[in-house]
Amino acid sequence: MNIHQLIRKHRCTAFVRVEPSRCEACSACINACSRHVLGLTPIPWHHHVRVVDAAKCKGCKLCIEACTQGAITPVTS
Ligand code: SF4
Ligand code: SF4
Repeated sequence: MNIHQLIRKHRCTAFVRVEPSRCEACSACINACSRHVLGLTPIPWHHHVRVVDAAKCKGCKLCIEACTQGAITPVTS
């Protein structure tokens, strides 16, 4: 897996995309997702959301609704 594939793996599911630069690491989206798709990076000085298990995402979009920063958006293509 090259670096671009690795970045994509942690930013996208089939239904949603996370934008780390907008993330304030509040964990609201993580708590909203009952399928445990999302998590925070393990790096204390660089906390932001990431996709940890894309295969479990069913596209309910509750994470999008939970995020007040607009850091999670629907995948449109
Ligand atoms: S769309 Fe639903 S299942 Fe997928 S990450 Fe968001 S809350 Fe979880
Ligand atoms: S709800 Fe938004 S700001 Fe909070 S952790 Fe999730 S993506 Fe980041």
